[in-house]
Amino acid sequence: ELASLMDVAVTEVISACMSLGIMVTMNQRLEADTIQLVADDFGYDVQFSNVEEDLEIEDETVDSPEDLVGRAPIVTVMGHVDHGKTSLLDYIRKANVIAGESGGITQHIGAYNVKLESGQQITFLDTPGHEAFTAMRARGAQVTDIAIIVIAADDQIMPQTREAISHAQAAEVPIIFAINKIDKPTANPEKVKEQLANMNLLVEEWGGSIQSQDISAKQGLNVEELLEKVLLEAEILELKANPNRLATGTVVEASLDKGRGYVSTILVQTGTLRVGDYLVAGSNHGKVRAMLDERGKPVKEAGPSTPVTILGLDGAPTAGDKFRVFEDERDAKQVATKREQLQREQTIRTQKHITLDEIGRRIALGDFKELNIILKGDVDGSVEALTDSLQKLSTDEIHINILHKGVGQITESDVLLASASDAIVIGFNVRPGASAKEIAEREEIEIRNYSIIYDAINDVKEAMEGMLSPEL
Ligand code: GDP
Repeated sequence: ELASLMDVAVTEVISACMSLGIMVTMNQRLEADTIQLVADDFGYDVQFSNVEEDLEIEDETVDSPEDLVGRAPIVTVMGHVDHGKTSLLDYIRKANVIAGESGGITQHIGAYNVKLESGQQITFLDTPGHEAFTAMRARGAQVTDIAIIVIAADDQIMPQTREAISHAQAAEVPIIFAINKIDKPTANPEKVKEQLANMNLLVEEWGGSIQSQDISAKQGLNVEELLEKVLLEAEILELKANPNRLATGTVVEASLDKGRGYVSTILVQTGTLRVGDYLVAGSNHGKVRAMLDERGKPVKEAGPSTPVTILGLDGAPTAGDKFRVFEDERDAKQVATKREQLQREQTIRTQKHITLDEIGRRIALGDFKELNIILKGDVDGSVEALTDSLQKLSTDEIHINILHKGVGQITESDVLLASASDAIVIGFNVRPGASAKEIAEREEIEIRNYSIIYDAINDVKEAMEGMLSPEL
């Protein structure tokens, strides 16, 4: 397509790509950046048409400030296994008080909204854990506004607690700690806070700025106070959206129901979704036949931060897929078809994520300032030593960012974090597990294994030297 637009031979475009270090085949989709560079080589100036823009599911319409109104915060609960994430979500779900509806929510649709006595609302993503959180991020969906990280007070900071913290930090989502199980005689919330302080995470009582609340999810003790803190954090974030436009948002869950067809839970993030709207979600589309809230009650419209189950899509989109409403059905259909085609092509696309070898090219394109690394090692000492040396490689041009470090095998969660944050994974005397390896292959994440610290540092250093901006 590009070749015929410029009236040159396909092979010329391919060789222009190769001289940029990009190996391509004839029927491969090129990145916008690449198209720009190649066209430039042939003396053309590129302007991308609206059709291409329409393929982007995100509606780029800019709201004027007066159109924006406050919206409920969207919260994800994370933490180590058995520390009480599910119990907390269940308690909040059941204790939910909406005038005349104190029965609470019984069904699971992937997200729910609670209304507090004060009339303020909070939306919870009902799939606890940082894996779900980061899997959505890896698909480009930044849904969560605030992360509650649950830590059992009769236990301590565990590996998954650390992971959850790293994942929230990588996403730049503010954290509130819920120190749980304080009803237990063996509970020692102060010890947990001390451990957090040792990790440089100072909670308010320790003179820091991170909110934390001692709770018992089982007894519902102090949960209201926790929710108040969520609202306080939300106030600082000044969360706003324009309800008066076509809706966009993110898919939370989807499945095929025997009687009802494809059922998808989506979270409206901006605009208002109405029954009868045409929407595209991932590469699926359809007319919203019916909408149900978290209580299974039919609703006619859903505004920002509202989760709803919708019926009427022609398939099941994936959690983290974005959706967008279109003016008319034909547009929706056309975009869905194109997106499906794109998805198919993506499997034969070049590298999606950064690799050490690729850094030089990315720098040439001028969009590379930060190298994100996830570091796993066999012993604490080597992890710390490597972290130290790698961080010292940071220069004014390129910042080395250790997103997460830890002792142990390279896990699925590490690879997902790498995918969501465009990072490389470095393993020191550790290797990825089978499923981590599989995801890394699928997501094209580079995992580099080392057994000599010097080699790891040297590789990163050399890659960085290739990526330093040329001196004038
Ligand atoms: P998750 O794996 O983080 O979702 O943890 P769960 O919510 O499933 O809780 C794990 C176990 O801890 C369950 O047996 C819960 O009943 C128990 N548990 C959770 N919260 C509390 C609490 O506040 N107090 C006590 N005593 N037990 C709790």
